[in-house]
Amino acid sequence: PLLSLYDLLERSAQNYPNRKAVIDGDLELTYSELKKASDRLAASLYLRGVGKGERIALMLPNCVEYIISYYAILRLGGAVVQVNPVYQSSELEYILQDSEATWMIGHDHQIEKIEKSGFADKLTFVSANRKNVSKENIYSWIAEKNHEPPTIDINPKEDLAVLQYTGGTTGRSKGVMLTHFNLVSNVVQDFTFTVNALNLQTPGERMLGLTPLFHVFGNARLNSAVFAASTYITIEKFEINKVVDLIRKHRPTIFPGVPTMYIALLNHPDLTAKDLKCFKYCSCGSAPLPIEVIYKFEQNFGIQISEGFGMSETAPTTHRNPVVGQRKPGSIGIPYPNTDAKIVDLEGGSEELPPGHTGELIIKGPQVMKGYWNNQEETNAALRDGWLYTGDIATMDEEGYFFIVGRKKDLIIASGFNIYPIEIENVIYQHPAVAEVCVFGIPDPYRGETVKATIVLKKGMYVTEEHIIEWCNERFAKYKVPRLIEFREQLPKTMVGKILRRKLQEEEVEKLK
Ligand code: ATP
Ligand code: MG
Repeated sequence: PLLSLYDLLERSAQNYPNRKAVIDGDLELTYSELKKASDRLAASLYLRGVGKGERIALMLPNCVEYIISYYAILRLGGAVVQVNPVYQSSELEYILQDSEATWMIGHDHQIEKIEKSGFADKLTFVSANRKNVSKENIYSWIAEKNHEPPTIDINPKEDLAVLQYTGGTTGRSKGVMLTHFNLVSNVVQDFTFTVNALNLQTPGERMLGLTPLFHVFGNARLNSAVFAASTYITIEKFEINKVVDLIRKHRPTIFPGVPTMYIALLNHPDLTAKDLKCFKYCSCGSAPLPIEVIYKFEQNFGIQISEGFGMSETAPTTHRNPVVGQRKPGSIGIPYPNTDAKIVDLEGGSEELPPGHTGELIIKGPQVMKGYWNNQEETNAALRDGWLYTGDIATMDEEGYFFIVGRKKDLIIASGFNIYPIEIENVIYQHPAVAEVCVFGIPDPYRGETVKATIVLKKGMYVTEEHIIEWCNERFAKYKVPRLIEFREQLPKTMVGKILRRKLQEEEVEKLK
């Protein structure tokens, strides 16, 4: 039979009850304790009317309470609505309205935002506060011992497990319907691709869970940890010094990260190869990983990062660089087992283009979403003949390795030339003074668009705009060289640390008004 997500927890709790499941600060739970807490919470939620098909919003940072609640909801056949805990009332209003969530589990300080969003009386709020526990708090409900959780029939292929809102990088985020089958399939694909190849232990590994659980990447890897009965070590917020302490203390062996986290580790003043010796497997995804970062990470720490590709719509991973065998820096690697991928023309065709040609990446596989929630129009645009049109531009080489060139929406067209921001960024990243960079197009009366680069310099470093332009001039055809350079203290980012190109672009458009 096909597994549901809760089955993953149940199996590990059965096979390895005393193995540590989660470490969150002082709070540590074994697999048997985690399952018990989730079951108790499920029973209490059921008693109060939560049933199959219900949408329950989780508005929590990475913490034990998130994990307990997540599996409790899934056990009941409910769908977890993922809500970024830093969302303010208007963003909250959109998600609550769109998802029609009837419950929310979150920290008490969110109540004010819910009231402002106008959804207070449409929603039952349950507190996940660890301290000052009230009556309507998951810990009070877990402590109720007078009932058993029900057994609910779950159809993994049909039933929604997670309503995953997309990153909102290119516009308003959309609710992606992920079934149990989508998410479990990706766990198994990921396992097949990496764990076996690296001879990782089941159980025995410790995963550093820093990517947000409310984001698909972090969420899926939590399920991977639970599936392999690994210990999931987490912290509420990515603060580099705390992260380094956590690494030194718990010696994690698996680290799924995003580019900005690797960059932060690289820029840390006293992190050594010895500190990171514990890492057996480092993966990266969710945004382009500058090639320079791959090289420097290997140079400084002796660690290879395996870059992969994923999106909310594919639960999330579709490609990865092999962990043994040939890795190609700058490539997202080859498709996961049981995943089809091809490059088609940008006009929405379905004919596969030959190797070396650039076009839209389309995907087919068990991890591809059921559709967008309440949005047939977007679903029809994205899912055609069983293929997911990713909106990402890519190419495949002769050996079947894929390379992301950029997003359809980020393409800069200057005087009729196509310019892909990532290509320019990669070269600017090679400059020794550059810590971060974002390249984008801004309106230009003559050329249509002009290339601009916004740069954050490394601490204590100084270069001029002219110097950066010169750096590019030596390496690019004239039309690709940024005409405008701006230095800043920091770049705007999404909660998973993706640089918000759109935000920088909007600021420029504002200036022109
Ligand atoms: P939205 O769809 O709301 O604009 P988003 O696309 O950023 O937001 P996600 O689903 O979290 O939301 O991200 C998926 C996207 O991230 C992919 O479509 C791709 O553009 C980008 N991405 C993921 N991995 C990589 C990678 N390794 N290299 C380049 N881009 C990547
Ligand atoms: Mg997207």
